[in-house]
Amino acid sequence: MSKNRTNRVIMHVDMDAFYASIEQRDNPDYRGKPVVVGGGGPRAVVAAASYESRKFGVRSAMPGREALRRCPDAIFVKPRLDYYRLVSKDIFAIFKELTPVYEGLSLDEAFLDFSEEPGIHDIIEQRARLIKDRIHEQTQLTASVGVGPNKLVAKIASDLLKPDGLCMLFGDTISQTLDPMPASTIPGIGRKTVKRLRSIRVSTIKDLRTAPDAALSAVFGRYAMRIKQRAAGIDDREVVPSRGDKSISAENTFAENLTSAREMEQELILLADRTAERARKKNLLGSVVMIKVRMPDFTTLTRQMQLQPASNSSDAIGGRAREMLRDWRADYPDAAVRLLGVGIAGLQEERQMGLFDSPEDNQGVDQVLDSIREKFGSDVVKRGNRIR
Ligand SMILES: [Mg+2]
Repeated sequence: MSKNRTNRVIMHVDMDAFYASIEQRDNPDYRGKPVVVGGGGPRAVVAAASYESRKFGVRSAMPGREALRRCPDAIFVKPRLDYYRLVSKDIFAIFKELTPVYEGLSLDEAFLDFSEEPGIHDIIEQRARLIKDRIHEQTQLTASVGVGPNKLVAKIASDLLKPDGLCMLFGDTISQTLDPMPASTIPGIGRKTVKRLRSIRVSTIKDLRTAPDAALSAVFGRYAMRIKQRAAGIDDREVVPSRGDKSISAENTFAENLTSAREMEQELILLADRTAERARKKNLLGSVVMIKVRMPDFTTLTRQMQLQPASNSSDAIGGRAREMLRDWRADYPDAAVRLLGVGIAGLQEERQMGLFDSPEDNQGVDQVLDSIREKFGSDVVKRGNRIR
């Protein structure tokens, strides 16, 4: 791709305490009070915490009981996910008006890529304000916007001036801002890694950026260079637009968390195969492959990637899914996995394929497997690469 990688304009839009803010908007009694969306019982998990409750140390993904201990006056509200989804739709409709290149990360968070818009560099701040204003007009809710030349910088920036923030980081201000921050600000550097980094005297992003390669390799293995780039504010990942709402997917929650890359990839290939089989039954092709990864603390991430040409081949979908999983593991090398999902979106009708259109896609093999499954059930046949 010939796009100038350092000249991009990426925005990260993140709604402020989304679920909790909706509840406060709709219930005047909740305003100015510590609202926690999610139950306060022993099994409940905090889905969102209003800023008033965050002052007491309440955070999302925290056990409800712990939230109650930290903030006994908290008002616990049952989540209304279907309703939040509707509000989210309105917000995403605004993104869609402003740029075709937006990538949703969750109901309340998205990356928007304005790089291709002529003259954008002169109006970045206006554009960011416009997004915030439009969201507020439409929903009476506030969003924080971070702007930078890539996803990493934009995401860090959106968090800096929350709530209702607008933060732009370009050029020299990137390292000036990132350098003093703790290394754990870089996605994928969790508690365990922080400990290991301490042993090589790395605590800030600057330490990470300037650490000797050999020392970093000892901690991050083959991902050391990537981590070092991230510490320098460099990130080449694309904003991948999700086309259309419809998708086909398969997911699995594991009785025991998966901890090894091998197990994760095996499961992923199985799920990709299941998704591809469903798509073939409906004569649909996907132009976007998505994976979903849920960690033991219920943090859930989705990643997506374009698939060109659009396909419903198990190998093509599985290959992309595996690439994304490896990419995710680079960011979260220590993480265990509780749930995996593979899906395709950007669906289109399958035209009649010529025999030699896509020789590397194993179309023939897929058709044979599908017909055997039709006859004998889907557990009979398993693809070789699962057992590799
Ligand atoms: Mg948010």
